[in-house]
Amino acid sequence: MSIIDLHSHSTRSDGKESPTEVFEHAAAAGVNILALTDHDTVKGWPEAAEAAQKLGLGFVPGIEVTSVARVQQEGRQRLISVHLLAYLPDPNHKAFHKMLGDTLTTREARGKSIVDRLAEDIDITWEMVLGHLEEGATIGRPAIADTLVTMGLVQNRSAAFDYYLSTDGPYFVSHDTVDVVEAIELIIKSGGVPVIAHPLTHVTEETNSEDLPREHFELMIDAGLMGFEVFHRDVPEPARNWLLDLANKHELIVTGSSDYHGIHGKPNRLGENTTSSEMFERILSAGNGSQALL
Ligand code: AMP
Ligand code: FE
Ligand code: FE
Ligand code: ZN
Repeated sequence: MSIIDLHSHSTRSDGKESPTEVFEHAAAAGVNILALTDHDTVKGWPEAAEAAQKLGLGFVPGIEVTSVARVQQEGRQRLISVHLLAYLPDPNHKAFHKMLGDTLTTREARGKSIVDRLAEDIDITWEMVLGHLEEGATIGRPAIADTLVTMGLVQNRSAAFDYYLSTDGPYFVSHDTVDVVEAIELIIKSGGVPVIAHPLTHVTEETNSEDLPREHFELMIDAGLMGFEVFHRDVPEPARNWLLDLANKHELIVTGSSDYHGIHGKPNRLGENTTSSEMFERILSAGNGSQALL
Protein backbone atom coordinates (compact mmCIF):
# COMPACT_ATOMS: atom_id res chain seq x y z
CA MET A 1 0.00 0.00 0.00
CA SER A 2 1.33 3.40 -0.97
CA ILE A 3 1.59 6.32 1.39
CA ILE A 4 0.26 9.27 -0.59
CA ASP A 5 0.68 12.90 0.53
CA LEU A 6 -0.71 15.47 -1.89
CA HIS A 7 0.24 18.85 -0.40
CA SER A 8 3.72 20.27 0.18
CA HIS A 9 5.71 23.48 -0.29
CA SER A 10 9.29 24.34 -1.18
CA THR A 11 11.44 27.48 -1.35
CA ARG A 12 9.78 28.24 -4.71
CA SER A 13 7.02 29.65 -2.49
CA ASP A 14 6.90 29.71 1.31
CA GLY A 15 8.47 26.39 2.25
CA LYS A 16 11.88 26.37 3.95
CA GLU A 17 13.47 23.58 1.89
CA SER A 18 14.31 23.08 -1.79
CA PRO A 19 12.16 20.64 -3.79
CA THR A 20 15.02 18.12 -3.57
CA GLU A 21 15.17 18.39 0.22
CA VAL A 22 11.39 18.07 0.47
CA PHE A 23 11.48 14.82 -1.52
CA GLU A 24 14.43 13.54 0.52
CA HIS A 25 12.48 14.18 3.70
CA ALA A 26 9.43 12.51 2.17
CA ALA A 27 11.46 9.39 1.42
CA ALA A 28 12.82 9.38 4.98
CA ALA A 29 9.26 9.69 6.32
CA GLY A 30 8.15 6.67 4.30
CA VAL A 31 6.00 8.62 1.85
CA ASN A 32 5.77 6.91 -1.57
CA ILE A 33 3.92 9.52 -3.62
CA LEU A 34 4.16 13.28 -3.02
CA ALA A 35 2.58 16.29 -4.70
CA LEU A 36 4.54 19.53 -4.72
CA THR A 37 1.93 22.31 -4.51
CA ASP A 38 3.74 25.61 -4.14
CA HIS A 39 1.55 28.71 -3.96
CA ASP A 40 0.68 30.02 -7.45
CA THR A 41 3.80 28.66 -9.17
CA VAL A 42 5.15 25.60 -10.98
CA LYS A 43 8.79 26.64 -10.62
CA GLY A 44 9.54 23.66 -8.39
CA TRP A 45 8.17 20.98 -10.72
CA PRO A 46 11.31 20.13 -12.74
CA GLU A 47 13.54 19.80 -9.66
CA ALA A 48 10.85 17.82 -7.81
CA ALA A 49 10.45 15.43 -10.75
CA GLU A 50 14.20 14.83 -10.88
CA ALA A 51 14.53 14.31 -7.12
CA ALA A 52 11.53 11.97 -7.06
CA GLN A 53 12.97 9.88 -9.86
CA LYS A 54 16.36 9.59 -8.11
CA LEU A 55 14.72 8.58 -4.85
CA GLY A 56 12.22 6.17 -6.42
CA LEU A 57 9.22 8.23 -5.29
CA GLY A 58 6.14 9.24 -7.24
CA PHE A 59 5.72 12.92 -8.10
CA VAL A 60 2.38 14.62 -8.64
CA PRO A 61 2.51 18.12 -10.16
CA GLY A 62 0.25 20.55 -8.32
CA ILE A 63 -0.29 24.20 -7.47
CA GLU A 64 -2.01 25.80 -4.49
CA VAL A 65 -3.99 28.55 -6.18
CA THR A 66 -4.80 31.65 -4.11
CA SER A 67 -8.36 32.76 -4.75
CA VAL A 68 -10.93 34.77 -2.85
CA ALA A 69 -14.60 34.50 -2.12
CA ARG A 70 -16.42 37.80 -1.96
CA VAL A 71 -19.00 37.32 0.73
CA GLN A 72 -21.68 39.75 1.86
CA GLN A 73 -21.76 39.76 5.65
CA GLU A 74 -23.45 42.17 8.03
CA GLY A 75 -24.02 44.64 5.24
CA ARG A 76 -20.43 44.73 4.01
CA GLN A 77 -18.32 42.74 1.62
CA ARG A 78 -15.65 40.52 3.11
CA LEU A 79 -12.80 38.95 1.15
CA ILE A 80 -12.27 35.42 2.36
CA SER A 81 -9.12 33.73 1.11
CA VAL A 82 -9.74 30.30 -0.45
CA HIS A 83 -6.83 28.03 -1.33
CA LEU A 84 -7.47 25.63 -4.21
CA LEU A 85 -5.21 22.69 -4.88
CA ALA A 86 -4.93 22.18 -8.63
CA TYR A 87 -3.62 18.74 -9.54
CA LEU A 88 -2.23 17.92 -13.00
CA PRO A 89 -3.02 21.30 -14.62
CA ASP A 90 -1.35 22.52 -17.81
CA PRO A 91 0.62 25.56 -16.63
CA ASN A 92 0.88 26.79 -20.21
CA HIS A 93 -2.86 27.01 -20.73
CA LYS A 94 -3.21 30.68 -21.65
CA ALA A 95 -5.93 31.91 -19.30
CA PHE A 96 -4.74 29.72 -16.42
CA HIS A 97 -1.18 30.97 -16.88
CA LYS A 98 -2.41 34.57 -16.89
CA MET A 99 -4.34 33.99 -13.66
CA LEU A 100 -1.17 32.77 -11.92
CA GLY A 101 0.83 35.73 -13.27
CA ASP A 102 -1.79 38.20 -12.08
CA THR A 103 -1.81 36.60 -8.63
CA LEU A 104 1.98 36.86 -8.34
CA THR A 105 1.73 40.56 -9.19
CA THR A 106 -0.99 41.24 -6.61
CA ARG A 107 0.87 39.14 -4.03
CA GLU A 108 3.88 41.44 -4.41
CA ALA A 109 1.80 44.62 -4.09
CA ARG A 110 -0.04 43.21 -1.08
CA GLY A 111 3.23 42.13 0.57
CA LYS A 112 4.57 45.65 0.13
CA SER A 113 1.39 47.11 1.67
CA ILE A 114 1.77 44.91 4.74
CA VAL A 115 5.42 45.95 5.07
CA ASP A 116 4.45 49.64 4.66
CA ARG A 117 2.02 49.26 7.54
CA LEU A 118 4.58 47.46 9.70
CA ALA A 119 7.20 50.11 8.85
CA GLU A 120 5.13 52.72 10.66
CA ASP A 121 5.97 50.92 13.91
CA ILE A 122 9.15 48.90 13.29
CA ASP A 123 12.32 49.24 11.21
CA ILE A 124 11.43 46.80 8.48
CA THR A 125 12.04 47.36 4.76
CA TRP A 126 10.91 45.56 1.63
CA GLU A 127 14.55 44.78 0.77
CA MET A 128 14.90 42.90 4.05
CA VAL A 129 11.88 40.77 3.14
CA LEU A 130 13.25 40.03 -0.35
CA GLY A 131 16.41 38.81 1.37
CA HIS A 132 14.34 35.94 2.76
CA LEU A 133 13.05 34.85 -0.64
CA GLU A 134 14.67 32.94 -3.44
CA GLU A 135 14.78 34.82 -6.76
CA GLY A 136 11.35 34.38 -8.36
CA ALA A 137 9.71 32.73 -5.37
CA THR A 138 6.06 33.45 -4.60
CA ILE A 139 5.78 36.25 -2.05
CA GLY A 140 3.66 35.75 1.05
CA ARG A 141 3.47 36.55 4.74
CA PRO A 142 5.94 33.77 5.72
CA ALA A 143 8.83 35.79 4.19
CA ILE A 144 7.76 38.76 6.31
CA ALA A 145 7.56 36.41 9.31
CA ASP A 146 11.14 35.24 8.64
CA THR A 147 12.23 38.89 8.54
CA LEU A 148 10.59 39.55 11.94
CA VAL A 149 12.44 36.52 13.32
CA THR A 150 15.78 37.84 12.02
CA MET A 151 14.98 41.23 13.57
CA GLY A 152 14.57 39.45 16.90
CA LEU A 153 10.96 40.57 17.30
CA VAL A 154 9.55 37.04 17.41
CA GLN A 155 10.92 33.54 18.02
CA ASN A 156 9.50 31.82 14.95
CA ARG A 157 7.01 32.04 12.08
CA SER A 158 4.04 30.97 14.19
CA ALA A 159 4.69 33.71 16.74
CA ALA A 160 4.79 36.26 13.91
CA PHE A 161 1.37 35.05 12.74
CA ASP A 162 -0.01 35.38 16.27
CA TYR A 163 0.27 39.14 16.21
CA TYR A 164 2.13 41.02 13.45
CA LEU A 165 0.69 38.97 10.60
CA SER A 166 -2.61 37.95 12.12
CA THR A 167 -5.69 38.25 9.91
CA ASP A 168 -7.35 40.46 12.50
CA GLY A 169 -4.20 42.31 13.50
CA PRO A 170 -3.43 45.97 12.74
CA TYR A 171 -1.10 45.31 9.80
CA PHE A 172 -3.08 42.79 7.79
CA VAL A 173 -4.01 43.36 4.17
CA SER A 174 -6.31 40.87 2.40
CA HIS A 175 -5.44 39.07 -0.80
CA ASP A 176 -7.43 40.52 -3.67
CA THR A 177 -7.01 37.87 -6.35
CA VAL A 178 -9.15 35.82 -8.70
CA ASP A 179 -12.65 34.85 -7.56
CA VAL A 180 -12.86 31.25 -6.38
CA VAL A 181 -15.51 30.32 -8.96
CA GLU A 182 -13.41 31.67 -11.83
CA ALA A 183 -10.32 29.93 -10.44
CA ILE A 184 -12.16 26.58 -10.35
CA GLU A 185 -13.28 27.05 -13.96
CA LEU A 186 -9.77 27.92 -15.11
CA ILE A 187 -8.19 24.96 -13.30
CA ILE A 188 -10.64 22.66 -15.10
CA LYS A 189 -10.01 24.33 -18.47
CA SER A 190 -6.28 23.73 -17.98
CA GLY A 191 -6.95 20.02 -17.49
CA GLY A 192 -6.49 20.21 -13.72
CA VAL A 193 -8.43 18.78 -10.79
CA PRO A 194 -9.60 21.45 -8.30
CA VAL A 195 -9.68 20.38 -4.65
CA ILE A 196 -10.26 22.91 -1.88
CA ALA A 197 -7.28 23.01 0.51
CA HIS A 198 -7.88 22.88 4.28
CA PRO A 199 -11.54 23.96 4.07
CA LEU A 200 -13.36 25.56 7.02
CA THR A 201 -10.17 25.92 9.01
CA HIS A 202 -11.65 28.52 11.33
CA VAL A 203 -14.95 26.85 12.06
CA THR A 204 -15.68 25.90 15.64
CA GLU A 205 -18.82 24.51 17.26
CA GLU A 206 -19.73 27.97 18.52
CA THR A 207 -19.03 30.13 15.50
CA ASN A 208 -18.92 29.48 11.83
CA SER A 209 -18.94 33.10 10.83
CA GLU A 210 -15.20 33.52 10.39
CA ASP A 211 -14.94 31.22 7.43
CA LEU A 212 -16.55 30.56 4.10
CA PRO A 213 -20.36 30.41 4.50
CA ARG A 214 -21.65 26.92 3.87
CA GLU A 215 -23.88 28.07 0.98
CA HIS A 216 -20.71 28.99 -0.84
CA PHE A 217 -19.79 25.30 -1.10
CA GLU A 218 -22.79 24.61 -3.35
CA LEU A 219 -21.66 27.48 -5.56
CA MET A 220 -18.15 26.02 -5.82
CA ILE A 221 -19.48 22.51 -6.51
CA ASP A 222 -21.73 23.90 -9.28
CA ALA A 223 -18.61 25.52 -10.77
CA GLY A 224 -16.90 22.12 -10.89
CA LEU A 225 -15.04 21.79 -7.58
CA MET A 226 -14.03 18.12 -7.48
CA GLY A 227 -12.94 17.51 -3.91
CA PHE A 228 -12.13 18.52 -0.35
CA GLU A 229 -8.91 18.14 1.61
CA VAL A 230 -10.75 16.90 4.68
CA PHE A 231 -7.84 15.25 6.45
CA HIS A 232 -5.54 18.16 7.27
CA ARG A 233 -4.43 19.18 10.75
CA ASP A 234 -6.18 22.55 10.52
CA VAL A 235 -9.62 21.22 9.58
CA PRO A 236 -11.62 20.96 12.80
CA GLU A 237 -13.62 17.85 13.67
CA PRO A 238 -17.14 19.34 13.28
CA ALA A 239 -16.20 20.67 9.85
CA ARG A 240 -14.86 17.25 8.81
CA ASN A 241 -18.15 15.51 9.37
CA TRP A 242 -20.05 18.16 7.48
CA LEU A 243 -17.57 18.02 4.57
CA LEU A 244 -17.65 14.21 4.41
CA ASP A 245 -21.45 14.27 4.19
CA LEU A 246 -21.33 16.89 1.45
CA ALA A 247 -18.68 14.93 -0.46
CA ASN A 248 -20.84 11.82 -0.22
CA LYS A 249 -23.89 13.64 -1.47
CA HIS A 250 -22.08 14.99 -4.54
CA GLU A 251 -19.71 12.02 -5.04
CA LEU A 252 -16.67 14.22 -4.60
CA ILE A 253 -13.05 13.27 -3.97
CA VAL A 254 -11.80 13.40 -0.38
CA THR A 255 -8.08 13.80 0.29
CA GLY A 256 -5.73 13.97 3.26
CA SER A 257 -2.32 15.64 3.23
CA SER A 258 0.34 17.26 5.37
CA ASP A 259 0.78 20.78 3.89
CA TYR A 260 4.48 20.47 4.71
CA HIS A 261 6.47 23.74 4.72
CA GLY A 262 9.83 22.35 5.90
CA ILE A 263 10.99 21.17 9.31
CA HIS A 264 11.38 24.77 10.44
CA GLY A 265 8.50 26.23 8.42
CA LYS A 266 5.51 24.80 10.24
CA PRO A 267 4.88 21.87 12.60
CA ASN A 268 3.14 19.90 9.79
CA ARG A 269 5.06 16.68 9.06
CA LEU A 270 5.22 14.77 5.76
CA GLY A 271 2.83 11.82 5.73
CA GLU A 272 0.95 12.92 8.87
CA ASN A 273 -2.27 12.82 6.79
CA THR A 274 -2.63 10.75 3.65
CA THR A 275 -4.91 10.13 0.68
CA SER A 276 -6.32 6.70 -0.18
CA SER A 277 -5.24 4.95 -3.38
CA GLU A 278 -8.85 4.92 -4.53
CA MET A 279 -9.17 8.72 -4.24
CA PHE A 280 -5.75 9.21 -5.82
CA GLU A 281 -6.82 7.09 -8.81
CA ARG A 282 -9.84 9.35 -9.24
CA ILE A 283 -7.55 12.40 -9.36
CA LEU A 284 -5.34 10.68 -11.94
CA SER A 285 -8.27 9.89 -14.18
CA ALA A 286 -9.84 13.35 -13.85
CA GLY A 287 -6.68 15.35 -14.63
CA ASN A 288 -4.95 15.54 -17.99
CA GLY A 289 -3.11 18.88 -18.17
CA SER A 290 0.19 17.44 -16.97
CA GLN A 291 1.60 14.03 -16.07
CA ALA A 292 2.25 12.45 -12.69
CA LEU A 293 5.52 10.50 -12.56
CA LEU A 294 4.75 7.21 -10.88
P1 AMP B 1 -0.26 34.53 2.66
O1 AMP B 1 -0.21 33.62 1.47
O2 AMP B 1 0.62 35.68 2.50
O3 AMP B 1 -1.65 34.92 3.05
O4 AMP B 1 0.32 33.68 3.87
C1 AMP B 1 -0.32 32.48 4.22
C2 AMP B 1 0.71 31.41 4.44
O5 AMP B 1 1.31 31.61 5.69
C3 AMP B 1 0.13 30.02 4.47
O6 AMP B 1 0.23 29.41 3.21
C4 AMP B 1 0.99 29.30 5.47
O7 AMP B 1 2.05 28.67 4.80
C5 AMP B 1 1.60 30.37 6.31
N1 AMP B 1 1.08 30.40 7.70
C6 AMP B 1 -0.16 30.73 8.09
N2 AMP B 1 -0.27 30.67 9.43
C7 AMP B 1 0.94 30.26 9.89
C8 AMP B 1 1.48 29.98 11.18
N3 AMP B 1 0.74 30.14 12.29
N4 AMP B 1 2.76 29.58 11.26
C9 AMP B 1 3.51 29.44 10.16
N5 AMP B 1 3.08 29.69 8.92
C10 AMP B 1 1.81 30.10 8.78
FE1 FE C 1 1.97 28.28 2.68
FE1 FE D 1 -3.06 26.83 2.09
ZN1 ZN E 1 -0.40 24.79 1.53
